[in-house]
Amino acid sequence: MPSSELRASAAGLRRLESGRVRCVFTTRALGDMRCARQRREALAQAGAPEPDARLLRQVHGKGLVVLQGAQTDNASPDVGLGGVHPRADGWLTDRPGAAVGVVVADCLPVWVWERSGRAAGVFHAGWRGLEAGILGRAVEEFARSFGIRPGDLEASVGPHAGACCYRVGPEVAQRFRRDSLRLSGGETFLDLGAEARAQLAAAGLGSVAVSPDCTICGAGRYFSWRREGGRGPLCGQMLACLWLEA
Ligand SMILES: [Zn+2]
Repeated sequence: MPSSELRASAAGLRRLESGRVRCVFTTRALGDMRCARQRREALAQAGAPEPDARLLRQVHGKGLVVLQGAQTDNASPDVGLGGVHPRADGWLTDRPGAAVGVVVADCLPVWVWERSGRAAGVFHAGWRGLEAGILGRAVEEFARSFGIRPGDLEASVGPHAGACCYRVGPEVAQRFRRDSLRLSGGETFLDLGAEARAQLAAAGLGSVAVSPDCTICGAGRYFSWRREGGRGPLCGQMLACLWLEA
């Protein structure tokens, strides 16, 4: 039974391998992944099949891009390369050797893959994306594009703003089920990981691993938008990437 937890590997990378699916997450040690040079170095260290990853113009929504078919298939345009990034918050692909990614800092990086490695996806979800239903939408898209049933999918949620630190006001709290909220000292904290797990379970997934690592109090390892107030040298972005081995 393959593990669906990310594991630490050399040079500040976290990895997850399941069949032919390769998932990679960069930590602060590898630098700000909005910088193409640092991103390329990290992908080279990770053994990615391409020099750079296809990225998105992330908008905290539920839009997805499906990269389908072999690389030689002209009917399937090669999106997300060359600085032309579609507005969306996640990828699904069954194309061997195509590296796709999202960047995060506090929001959840979520990887979903078919157990035998036929297709996989990576998604960016903060509270807005979760409220919009991006994860349920992703599970539907696996069925629509690839004929994959929810019960054949596995998922892993990477480091994110944890319930220990992610304080929210009533305007955000009221959008989520009580089971995803933690009350402490008169304040409300949103457990994004628990919410993601619940949404994926509701969509029919049986196996969902959630990283216990918090990006806000894990300053030594992770960039955090919330902790740094959106500014300064510690306010970078981490890359959540995946590809299918050929
Ligand atoms: Zn924390």
